[in-house]
Amino acid sequence: MRFALLLLLAVFGGTLASLTYLQDLWWDASGLWKAAAAALLTSGLVGAIVIPWERRLRLGARRAVQAIDSSNDGYWVLDAEGRFVEVNDAYCRMVDLPREQVMRMKIADFEAVATQDRIRAQIQRILKAGNERFETRHRRRDGHWIDLEITVTAVDHGLLVAFLRDVSQRKAAEERINRLAFYDALTGLPNRRLLRERIDRALLVSARNGARGALLFIDLDNFKALNDTRGHALGDELLVQVAQRLSQCVRSTDTVARQGGDEFVVVLEALNADAQVALTEAGRVAEKCRVALEKPFELSCGEFHVSGSFGAVVFQGKGQSTGELEQRADTAMYQAKQAGRNRIVFFEPSMLENLARRTGLEADLREALPLGAIVPFFQAQVDVRGRVLGAEVLLRWSHPQRGWVSPMEFIPLAEETGLIMPLGAWVIEGACTQLARWREDPDFRHLMLSVNVSPLQFVQPGFVEHLQGLVASGRFDPARLQLELTEGLVIRNLDEVINRMHTVRSLGIALSMDDFGTGQSSLGNLRRLPIQCLKIDKSFVDVLPGGPGEEAIASSIVMMAQALGLDVIAEGVETQAQRTALTSLGCHKFQGYLFGRPVPLDAFEASLREAHRPALAA
Ligand code: C2E
Ligand code: CA
Ligand code: CA
Repeated sequence: MRFALLLLLAVFGGTLASLTYLQDLWWDASGLWKAAAAALLTSGLVGAIVIPWERRLRLGARRAVQAIDSSNDGYWVLDAEGRFVEVNDAYCRMVDLPREQVMRMKIADFEAVATQDRIRAQIQRILKAGNERFETRHRRRDGHWIDLEITVTAVDHGLLVAFLRDVSQRKAAEERINRLAFYDALTGLPNRRLLRERIDRALLVSARNGARGALLFIDLDNFKALNDTRGHALGDELLVQVAQRLSQCVRSTDTVARQGGDEFVVVLEALNADAQVALTEAGRVAEKCRVALEKPFELSCGEFHVSGSFGAVVFQGKGQSTGELEQRADTAMYQAKQAGRNRIVFFEPSMLENLARRTGLEADLREALPLGAIVPFFQAQVDVRGRVLGAEVLLRWSHPQRGWVSPMEFIPLAEETGLIMPLGAWVIEGACTQLARWREDPDFRHLMLSVNVSPLQFVQPGFVEHLQGLVASGRFDPARLQLELTEGLVIRNLDEVINRMHTVRSLGIALSMDDFGTGQSSLGNLRRLPIQCLKIDKSFVDVLPGGPGEEAIASSIVMMAQALGLDVIAEGVETQAQRTALTSLGCHKFQGYLFGRPVPLDAFEASLREAHRPALAA
């Protein structure tokens, strides 16, 4: 900058400053300016011999300006009105205008941020203070703007010298970093971090003006299946569309954020100060969002249906922290899932106890398998004469404080936490080992073992390879192993699931459709599945014997199985009357308390030996 001052003195002042002052300036100047100043001085010295003093000065200044011109930094000399006195090529290139045109304009004509008044005030300030460094934006000929970093120094005669640098790239990078830090790259929605700031702010505003706000936690109900089986690209497509739909359901002052994965959060602000009214208002927005998600999505693979589970909490003031609020909305959301998904649940304090229980359970479940606290029970499957054909493996968890924990409780938990993978693999390995042992025993070698396989586990990469490895060991007859799958598996991603099923079949392992009739799988789909057996769900057995209405479903499942050449077994058979009814419908295999409850291995084996003894004696 000192060099600029020097230059100005030379060009406009017409007198040369004292040599000592020049020396000072010299030591302060940076490389480029030294070079330029050297050019000036050298020209002065050389010219001193032949050229008159004033011409020398002008010539030197011209060369210095040329040096400045060849630089990428812009350079201006302005008067106190903001008119250009001098401007270099670099600036003209930046704004993409010819120099003559630029010279006719004022600084305010380019300025894209500050008003004319502010520019005027700024010039006065600089003239008084001596210099200033700031950032602003200038408009280009094409209407786009460039980001500039400007350093202005006041010199004599009310003139200003400015050096400016195009920092558009740096600004764009900063902007990108900012977006990365605060916005979700996929959907463009605020991310977790910005969400927290927005909630903090909403709490503050609410504390100030008394209006209530609400937090909605939204979790998509069947996103994981799409993502896991159809690939992440489709999952991404869906998330982008979900983001758009949710954004359309709220006011511009509300926030829709992506919390991560398939979780979205809506922050509603400026709700009524009355708790009941606010609750209704929040409920209305939540319902609007819920309905919006229910409508089919057009993905590149075709139409796709999802739904959302909503957890909602209304807040006022700063009574609770952002973290607490999030936890409450999350808890309510979990309840919505539990209650059957695609619904809205508002937070209630009692939910926190359940949450604590669940969290504790989850921690315990992680330890249970290595500790041997989870054990397989065996429930007999029998033929029409009551002879044991095999057993279904049903897990039991012996919890040190809670006693026996039902698989109805811990299997969903294992599915949510991913623990189902090691757990499921362990059950299958155990079944294979059991079959290998039974193979050596004439009392047991005919038995089949059925193992429940959760959909998540079945579609997991490596599942088939795991089975292949087990079969390759040759320790057991794969035809004695049956996997029980549920309809949930085949509602979506049918083709891929069918491929997998064929691979499993090619290993010699049998497949059966569990809980049949409770899902929505169509007969058309059923025909494509390489399964051997349909399992009539307990709910259709419970109503037997009954009139034609009660028997209709069990009866049609049996007929369907017969038409497709499949085996059929009824589960949950508790009474002789049910057995008779099923037999008359054409179902000849049963499982249920009537024939035996699920029991530990030794009890199961003992009961079989017991059954064999009178037969042998007879
Ligand atoms: P499921 O596969 O439908 O198993 C049948 C359930 O009905 C079992 O409950 C069984 O004990 C019960 N049950 C059998 N006969 C009768 C009867 O006559 N009356 C009554 N009231 N109930 C009967 P359980 O053992 O509690 O298992 C519940 C569910 O947990 C199973 O339903 C299955 O979906 C899941 N599960 C159990 N073990 C595993 C496993 O190793 N892996 C996976 N993925 N799921 C499992
Ligand atoms: Ca089952
Ligand atoms: Ca079942």
